[in-house]
Amino acid sequence: MSSPAPSTSPSEAEPAGTKEKKARKVEERLQTASLGDIPVVTGLPRRALFSAQRTGEVGIVHSWELVTAVDGPGTRMTVFLAGCPLRCQYCHNPDMLAGHRGLPVRVDDLLKRIKRYRGVFKATGGGLTLSGGEALLQPAFVGRVFAGAKEKGIHTAIDTSGFAGPNVDDALLANIDLALLDVKAGDDETYRRVTGGRSLQPTLDFGRRLAASGVEIWIRFVLVPGLTDDPATIEPIADYAASLPTVTRVEVLPFHQMGRGKWAELGLPYKLADTEPPSPDLIRRTREIFSSRGIATY
Ligand code: SF4
Repeated sequence: MSSPAPSTSPSEAEPAGTKEKKARKVEERLQTASLGDIPVVTGLPRRALFSAQRTGEVGIVHSWELVTAVDGPGTRMTVFLAGCPLRCQYCHNPDMLAGHRGLPVRVDDLLKRIKRYRGVFKATGGGLTLSGGEALLQPAFVGRVFAGAKEKGIHTAIDTSGFAGPNVDDALLANIDLALLDVKAGDDETYRRVTGGRSLQPTLDFGRRLAASGVEIWIRFVLVPGLTDDPATIEPIADYAASLPTVTRVEVLPFHQMGRGKWAELGLPYKLADTEPPSPDLIRRTREIFSSRGIATY
């Protein structure tokens, strides 16, 4: 199993003084950090923390929210895990890309909070969605959270680019009810341009594996004028979606500028500052490419 290392891995090469200083700073941040009433793990030595991350006892969480009609059916608790191997030009959560921006949380504490919403989930046909960042950078944690949720009859969804699909073992796969699979382009060249040089193939492979395991898939595609609006990159996604028997819908998500401020706050270069949202006509034509294959398209 090829496993992209969590971006929170310790650097063994650092001199002891620097390590201690960093550890003190991190601890100070954790003491004052908050994830609502979900306790943040404090006082754990770095080595113990990384070991707990490897076993999935602890995960690095950026934030969470309760949402309706996004990130899956019904009302959902969406938990954003920190860290992502991609660098999408249009990312509206650039503050979640670095693992160190997240907070350590014990799986049992998170599950306690998730279970509180069982009534809401049941009444609305909702459930739990793990998103990010890229949740599958923390496969052991995701596996334990989903296993705990499924035990209580809670619907589980993963929002993923599929890039870290090789991290997913069969036990985790068996606990996913729905995958929101972000396919960012249908040809490798455009995919690399969008994502900062990553390859499309792992996404395609993961989607096929999900379908072979009977996991329901919603394909999500972000339509960006001048970047992903060429039918030459959209048609292959539509063909791919139509080839997977468990795809039940495609969502064409029009590019927007809502993440722009975060790029500026982080001092990161933002390439799409002058890009306009797609016109209603472009959105309609793009959706038609998918719906012409008989796929329910939104
Ligand atoms: S995969 Fe998602 S979180 Fe990661 S860079 Fe792309 S848009 Fe942002």
